[in-house]
Amino acid sequence: MPELPEVETTRRALAPHVCGQFIQAVCIRNPRLRQPVPPFLAEILPRQQVHALERRAKYLLFACDQGHLLVHLGMSGSLRLAERAELPQKHDHIDLLFDNGALLRYRDPRRFGLFLWCQDPHQHPLLATLGPEPLTAGFNGAYLYARAQGRRQAIKTFLMDNHIVVGVGNIYASESLFLAGIDPVRAAGRISLARYETLAQAVKEVLHAAIAQGGTTLRDFVSGVSQPGYFAQSLRVYQRDGYPCLHCGAPIQRRVIGQRASYYCPHCQR
Ligand SMILES: [Zn+2]
Repeated sequence: MPELPEVETTRRALAPHVCGQFIQAVCIRNPRLRQPVPPFLAEILPRQQVHALERRAKYLLFACDQGHLLVHLGMSGSLRLAERAELPQKHDHIDLLFDNGALLRYRDPRRFGLFLWCQDPHQHPLLATLGPEPLTAGFNGAYLYARAQGRRQAIKTFLMDNHIVVGVGNIYASESLFLAGIDPVRAAGRISLARYETLAQAVKEVLHAAIAQGGTTLRDFVSGVSQPGYFAQSLRVYQRDGYPCLHCGAPIQRRVIGQRASYYCPHCQR
């Protein structure tokens, strides 16, 4: 599943090809995504200029003349630049063609993605209640500590709650808690401000490293080939159960927390 680093990598790779460009044509071959793709997109998008390609949580926002195209990659979606002569494959549901010749192709085998149109994406029901972005100054130890007061849920579940902070998926929550030395089942309300400061820094560090390496799933934007990314080789605990902890040598443990597989070192994380 594309996580925040993959979406940010996609945004950075595509922005130079689409920003400032005019959309020439839209081809919707299959509108049956998580919500139906509005058929009017093919009418209103042509002749609009894309002013910016932004990201909020795992949503890509194409800022156009008259509003925003809001795209979510769902479970298996990808956006890539294709050659104009390249025939669409079975799961290539949507094409955006630009004046400069760029062809942006959306592929989504499981069709959990979204292609929607809205005026103000930040007021959209899908985005309005989201927590802060993890890579902004507003996400810090004091913020986490304040939000955690009185909460008995496991810190890992708390950290993966989109209303608390966006984009900290299962892999990144496990890795950040290991870096911060915090037991993933510890109650969120029973962690000190100092430890939350360490944790906020760990989240930023893990996400920055993943973005720098193109996410955990590497995508080739020209051919659209997807393979395990370089970041997968940097994982310290995720899916390393039974292997020695990189700090102390004790075997990494696996435990299900909030219905998600979690990986941690019982010696280093308290
Ligand atoms: Zn350890």
